[in-house]
Parts: sequence; C-alpha cells; structure tokens
Amino acid sequence: MNHQKIGKLINYSNKTIEIENSNRIAIVKVKDYNPENVRSGLLRIIELLKPSFFDDDLIHKSVLLKPNVLAPDKMAFTNENVVEQLAEILKKQGVKKLLIGDSTMTKLITKMAHRKSGLADIAEKLGEKMINFLEDEFVTISHDSFRVSKVIRIPKTVFNADIIINLPKMKTHAGYVFTGAIKNFFGLMEDKISMHKIYKDKLLFQRMLGDIHQAVLCCGEKERIKPVLHIMDAIEAMEGKGPRSGKHKKYNCLIGSFSPVALDALAFSLMGGNPEDLEALKSLSETNLWERNVNRLEVIGDNWEDFKDNAQIPPLETLNSIRTGGSLIERFAVPLIRSFHPRIKINSKKCKLCMNCISHCPMQALYFDENKNKIKVNRSKCINCFCCGEICPNNAVQQKRPISKFIPLIK
Ligand code: SF4
Ligand code: SF4
Repeated sequence: MNHQKIGKLINYSNKTIEIENSNRIAIVKVKDYNPENVRSGLLRIIELLKPSFFDDDLIHKSVLLKPNVLAPDKMAFTNENVVEQLAEILKKQGVKKLLIGDSTMTKLITKMAHRKSGLADIAEKLGEKMINFLEDEFVTISHDSFRVSKVIRIPKTVFNADIIINLPKMKTHAGYVFTGAIKNFFGLMEDKISMHKIYKDKLLFQRMLGDIHQAVLCCGEKERIKPVLHIMDAIEAMEGKGPRSGKHKKYNCLIGSFSPVALDALAFSLMGGNPEDLEALKSLSETNLWERNVNRLEVIGDNWEDFKDNAQIPPLETLNSIRTGGSLIERFAVPLIRSFHPRIKINSKKCKLCMNCISHCPMQALYFDENKNKIKVNRSKCINCFCCGEICPNNAVQQKRPISKFIPLIK
C-alpha cells in the first residue's frame, strides 16, 4: 500500500525495534480528576515503570505529549488534568522543551477541539502553541517490519521529539470496537480521510495502525529507538457509541506501559472484551513478539481484576470488511450479508444539515436527498468506519444493529 505523498524517504530497515519491559504494565487507582489525585496516580505509574529516560538528563530533552483530542465534547478527550499534571511533573524534572499535539480530521475541527478541551491553554502556560499536526511538515519513513504500508508519514514534531508520551483515553469505537494506545497514534496522520479509503479493508486498516507505531519507534537518535511511554486515562472511560458520543463509565484508574499492545490488552479486558478480537493489537504483538495475553503480562501496582467492569462494547461484526468482486458465491452472498451488518443511520430529528459528514465520508457514501431534505446513506458504499459519527457535531449519526449475530460473516 502506498500513501499519496512520499517526499524524501528515510529508510530505517536496519534498525532493530526493542522497547523497555514490553510485558510490564502498571495500573493504579485514581478516584477522580482532582489534580492532586491525578498527580499522585501519575507519579505512581512513573515510579512503578521506572522509565530509563527519567534517569537521563531531561534538561537536554524535548518531550511530546500526545493526548486524544478527538472532538470538543468533554468525554471524547484525554482529561486536561492528566495532561497538565504530567506536564508539571516533567517540568519539575527539568525537561528542556515540552510540547502537546494532536489532530482530528480537519484543521478547523482540530483547532476547536484544542481550544475547547482546555489543552491549548495548558500548552500556552508552558510557553508553547499546541501543535496541530495538520499544520506540520511530514517525514516519510520506511521499515521492514511494516505489515501493510510501504511508507508511513509522521509529523516533523514527532520525528524531532526525543521522547513521546502517548496519552490515550479508554473508549469504545463504533467503527473499530475499541480505541486506546494503538489507535491514538492515528491522530498523527496527515490525511485521515484518504487513509480510511486506502485501507477500507478493516483488517488492513488495523494492521496499518501498527505500522504507525513502528514508524514512530524507528526514528530515535542514531541507532536508538525513540522512547515511547503510554499512559491511558481510564479514570472515566467511554462505552457504547464511542469514540465521541458514547456513555461515561468510570474505571477509576490510570494504566501505563511501554507496550501499547499490553496496555490495550489490559484495558479491553477490563471492559469485558477479548484482546484476540482486535487485529491492531494482534498484528503489532506478532510483529514485535510483544506479549498480549493478560495472564502472561506482568501487571504491577493495584490488583487489575478489581477494576473489571463489563462495558457496552460495539458489535464485533463491525470489524468485518465486506469484499465484493470475489468468488461467485461471495458476489451473491455479500449483498445479503451486508444487509445484516451494523448500519449507519442519520437521525433527522437531530441532524442540522451542516453537511460535515458528507464532506468527510471517505467513501462518498452519504448524500443529501433534496426531495426529502435529509442526509441519506448509500449502504453499498459504506464501510462502517464511523468517521461521520466522529465528525457530526449533533450526535445525529446512529449505528443500528439488525439481527446480525445469527448470520455468518465474511472476513
Ligand atoms: S457513511 Fe459514515 S461510516 Fe459509512 S463510509 Fe461514510 S463516514 Fe464511514
Ligand atoms: S454532520 Fe451531523 S448534523 Fe451535520 S449533516 Fe451530518 S448528520 Fe447532520
């Protein structure tokens, strides 16, 4: 698979990707977003994981914090106190330069989300402008371990940072079931709509998410891997129709690991899910031989089983891609099977006809029906990516599940 723009290519094929303690994961109880409680939770995570970059001279290092700032809705982003308290801790350690950055699908929505989330103000207090990756330059990277991408383009800010701290929010995802540490790096991509189109086969899309992590790790100084630590905001998570319009669910914990695989495996297990159902997690685990079985992970801190609480997880069928043009049987069966898959529907009572969803649908599956004065979905084109749900400011996009669990699925 190739992306549109290549630019100057940096080939890291000779670099071995090895991270610190890939099977260690720390979980700590944090009862709420009170800044003091968040701060002590973060300090405990750092104390438990002992990142080696904390021993180095941070005075010479730049650190980039990558929260999830998907949308201006309060529960859709990494809580501002998690970001601010971590920034304070790092500042106290003497970090030379501290940056915060993320991007959504468009420059404008990203700007709004940065402002409304309060994270732009935190960045300004640090003396920096919050980074909108869509306004950044991009660096093109290749590595032998990429599973589906020839190259991955990452923002120059990410390329230049000495250390990355990924701060995902624990959420379900109506298009990809779960979003955590692995999917949070999709926010680094410059043309998300095109990537949804290129990787419309969901299996490939999920494997591509792993390639992004490989690309970020590759570009450490000289022969080194870039240090990346992942800390998940699971104090209040989201269940149901995430990543933007789901329901709040408290897990009252922060989870940290150097391995995004270990982190997502534990978080999804806390929600009652089976990590084996998530291809992004399996693929990245297989690429690097990182452990994904929660029972074989070294979980330190508090007892993880105490935080388990089944969440409303979107139907797994949503992860199945529907291929057409295959075998004769497939060509006959696909339309039938498709009709039983979760379907996107626009709630016309909530819809304000802003047309945002139409312009951001990667498959041009949405259109305005002038006669009915409604947004309609062309089901034969829809890939169930839920970009429309992420972009809709009025929570008007619904995902309906017919009787799909009784129907065999095509993967
Ligand atoms: S209609 Fe929505 S879910 Fe379907 S392809 Fe378009 S953006 Fe994705
Ligand atoms: S983005 Fe939401 S409100 Fe705007 S047209 Fe689409 S469904 Fe309607």
